[in-house]
Amino acid sequence: MIDFECALSNLTIFKNKHDAIDKVQLSKRFALNWKTLFKTLFHNQSTFGEKIIVRSPQYIKELVRLISATDKRTIANYIMWTVVRALSRDVTDHLRALNFQMNHVVFGLRADYSRHFECTKEVMEYMDVVLIKSYTHRYIPDGAFIAIRNMIINIKTHFIKILNENTWLDNSTKKDLIEKVAAIKHVIAFNNEIDRQAQQLRKLTLSNNHLLNVIKLCSFKSRYNLENLNRKVNFKWTDSLFEVNAYYSVLQNTIFIPVGMLESPFFNLSAPIFSAYNYGALGSIIGHEISHALDTSGRHADKNGNVGNWWQSEAIRIYNEKTNCFAEQSGASEDLSLGENIADNVGLRISFNALSDLERKGNKLGEQLFFMSFAQVWCEARGTNEIEDEHAPAKVRVLTTLNNRNEFFNSFHCPQYTHQKCTLWVT
Ligand SMILES: [Zn+2]
Repeated sequence: MIDFECALSNLTIFKNKHDAIDKVQLSKRFALNWKTLFKTLFHNQSTFGEKIIVRSPQYIKELVRLISATDKRTIANYIMWTVVRALSRDVTDHLRALNFQMNHVVFGLRADYSRHFECTKEVMEYMDVVLIKSYTHRYIPDGAFIAIRNMIINIKTHFIKILNENTWLDNSTKKDLIEKVAAIKHVIAFNNEIDRQAQQLRKLTLSNNHLLNVIKLCSFKSRYNLENLNRKVNFKWTDSLFEVNAYYSVLQNTIFIPVGMLESPFFNLSAPIFSAYNYGALGSIIGHEISHALDTSGRHADKNGNVGNWWQSEAIRIYNEKTNCFAEQSGASEDLSLGENIADNVGLRISFNALSDLERKGNKLGEQLFFMSFAQVWCEARGTNEIEDEHAPAKVRVLTTLNNRNEFFNSFHCPQYTHQKCTLWVT
């Protein structure tokens, strides 16, 4: 089973290619019994005749190959093990202690979570839709929403300006890219989609058996997601609403700014130099998320989230050449983190441009605060053997991104770093 898990973790998820295919193609390309799988998942009310978005075809191909080469007993055990692992925090003290030992070895965790922390975490995870409104009312001033909305509009305008002034895109591709960026929608903290889910969640009866409650809440969440797969929604999020993680959804062409980012160090309505502080922190994150619309993965989808070839071939060639620079600059795990590196770099640039437009140009104090504020949000305590995701370590993200910005060196009067600089939209 350990061999299987190792093999599984060695499969790489290449995010830079989406495929929209139908069931015939799906079964032809990836030899797995999809029909039974979907029938079970959807309780026989299968939507199997429709187009399916395969987010990483190469990964699915390798996964299917691995599954066919592994004996059924190992797979069954592995599935049961993932269930036990997921629920081990919610049963006995003994299992919780074992779970901690594992986290200690794998993630370098020094002390186990307190009961207070863990209970709050679970409530936030499972009951986010019923709590979010009252939390926001209590802690976030109304003015924050208006200010952040304006920031998003400003930063988007500056992205469009850069695209407009670009010299290597042909006119037709340029027009489409600008249309896509202009069409990016945003959700701050929540939207009225939560009402429907909250209403159903309130009907759920919980008992004083913690484990059963967790299982009930878990299955409610997945059932709700599956049942609402085909319903047209304004915006549907993938994480808990309390997760401090902004993101861009390619298929919905929408950015999501969670409630946790409406507070310091990301955003502060009463910061002394308001624009510099907030554009450096939350602004560069908004810029980052907007830039994902045209990163190596996002660029494949048009403004409606439809995947296709809508770029002229010469534009693709130059785009690949330019993005290669970022891949070389970042070194390790290029394909996985390339989209993130691009978003970091473009995001900081467009947020800085938006700031320069608001503040007096060359206001050194404002510029310095902008860069410090940008770096501060990435401050973290990290274990040495922590498992990485598609993002480079925070320290690398800050240094590499600043290295590409001449304004950073100018504002602090320090000598230019001689390493290669990369640009994407600006020549
Ligand atoms: Zn990102």
